[in-house]
Amino acid sequence: MLKGKIALVTGASRGIGSEIAKKLAAQGAAVIINFNGSRDRAEEVKKEIESFGGAASLYQWDVSNYKACEASMQSIIKEYGQLDILVNNAGITRDGLLMKMSEEDFDSVISTNLKGAFHTIRFASRQMIRQKSGRIINISSVVGVAGNAGQANYAAAKAGLIGLTKTTAKELASRGITVNAIAPGFISTDMTAGLSDKVKEAAAAQIPLGMFGRPEDVAAAAVFLASDDAGYITGQVLHVDGGMVM
Ligand code: NAP
Repeated sequence: MLKGKIALVTGASRGIGSEIAKKLAAQGAAVIINFNGSRDRAEEVKKEIESFGGAASLYQWDVSNYKACEASMQSIIKEYGQLDILVNNAGITRDGLLMKMSEEDFDSVISTNLKGAFHTIRFASRQMIRQKSGRIINISSVVGVAGNAGQANYAAAKAGLIGLTKTTAKELASRGITVNAIAPGFISTDMTAGLSDKVKEAAAAQIPLGMFGRPEDVAAAAVFLASDDAGYITGQVLHVDGGMVM
């Protein structure tokens, strides 16, 4: 389904990003695995993709760093000569109530989760415009739609990603490029592993389907949005949240 396509997934060393990378590769795309600190985990994802005959390469950079992103994107275009799919998945949390939230914690989440996507879109879209085609998928969150006490920085970044998605979708539609967001609910990854059982139970009680989702559930939605079948869908937010937001 994605044979001949080149896909970049940011934050693909672990969790949702690694599943998206694996599923895109399983569909035939050559996948560029971006990571920041977890080189060993990124190597494992690459090996797993290669074990089923897929193609993958590793690119380390901090998505919040504009210059590092520019240099890496230039190398990627030079190496592959094309870029068809961009998934902005890299994200962090620095939770705390607004009254106690430090400026540093606010800024770091905005820089990684929102500005990081601006950086990659800025450089990827140039190439996609030349190709007159492309798929951009931004991983937002249910929290960006509904808010969540203790996550002002994260919710602002994820809501910002939705605005960025819709605006970019309008700017790039005439160039054959679609831009969509996925808003996952609670997904079992390192990001949610640290929640106490009490918080997890309270969270599950808000989910009509009654359980946390799996990274594979989000990855399946990303593969669909990256496919030719989704060619008439742009500027949308696809909720993968067990029914939390309807
Ligand atoms: P995770 O398991 O904590 O993995 C985060 C990934 O992002 C890692 O691969 C990490 O790479 C990468 N990353 C973090 N900062 C980076 C940076 N500055 N530059 C490059 N890569 C960076 O998180 P996850 O749960 O899979 O979440 C993935 C995305 O889904 C995030 O955007 C998150 O906000 C969103 N999301 C998650 C949930 C959930 O319940 N889990 C719900 C809604 C939305 P390294 O380890 O190599 O640094």
